[in-house]
Amino acid sequence: MTEVTPGIYWIKLPIDVVGGPAHVNAYLIRGDIGYLLVDCGWNTDSSFSTMHNSLVKNGVGFEEISQILVTHVHPDHYGMAGRIKKLSGATIAMHPIEKDFIEPRYVHMEELLHQTDRMLVDNGVPHDEMVKLRDATVGLEQYTVPTGEFTFRVIWTPGHSSGHLCLYEPEKKILLSGDHILPRITPNISVHPQSIENPLGHYIKSLQEMRQLDAELILPGHDQPFTGLTSRIDEILQHHEQRNRNILATMGGQARTTYQIAREITWGVKSRWHDLPDFHRRMATFETLAHLEMMAAEGKLDRFPQNGIIYYRQN
Ligand SMILES: [Zn+2]
Ligand SMILES: [Zn+2]
Repeated sequence: MTEVTPGIYWIKLPIDVVGGPAHVNAYLIRGDIGYLLVDCGWNTDSSFSTMHNSLVKNGVGFEEISQILVTHVHPDHYGMAGRIKKLSGATIAMHPIEKDFIEPRYVHMEELLHQTDRMLVDNGVPHDEMVKLRDATVGLEQYTVPTGEFTFRVIWTPGHSSGHLCLYEPEKKILLSGDHILPRITPNISVHPQSIENPLGHYIKSLQEMRQLDAELILPGHDQPFTGLTSRIDEILQHHEQRNRNILATMGGQARTTYQIAREITWGVKSRWHDLPDFHRRMATFETLAHLEMMAAEGKLDRFPQNGIIYYRQN
């Protein structure tokens, strides 16, 4: 646990899932009547003992946590919320949209899996590959379910998750950015059965709005605290513009499915479709779909069904 700025402590919690980030950040913020905990870590024993040891080392008891804010209900941010609530008696706050995800995602998964199937098939993923991509969810089934001198403004930042929240302290110029803005990786923005319409369009719009914020310290959900908000926002905006250009070039003026396009794009620095594990192939498919839906919403592409499959073509 590191005090990144007076009154805010950074706790780095391990994520024991291969293929994603190795850590997720939780932030403990000192208040008048207890602490505010922002994000909770993956619900595993190693993550819990890291949290427990950090608190003990700094003389903070679980019962001193009076509020929990979850930026979004992905398992790395929401996982231990229930466990910490039990130990602390804290109240849990999150965006109401996120709250509505908990039951279908963590309690009744069948309907969501069925919707995911349909979306993959509709977008041209062949049946045998669809089964692998659908079942590539990472162990979700194990998860059931302004304080003191800081006055945080809660900002709704849809895109990475529909009800994603950021916290902004205008006087201290601090932004807790969750997975909305990360220092080195671009967060996954996907169309999926629970996403709002045109999630990438919403994401880009909220990034552009956040360029106005006067923030000197950004505390992200992964990686290290950083500075330089506007330049990082501009890099992310450019990344998405570049991907739009790649997609249009890949389409070459032809009618193509999301799947056909996703297979041909370069993912990350050097990864091609063949190198990606199933879970990443599914993310790649739904990320491509997010780009296509954004360009369709902007009138750059036409979307039309043919033999029960959705195709896109440049206007
Ligand atoms: Zn996330
Ligand atoms: Zn995350």
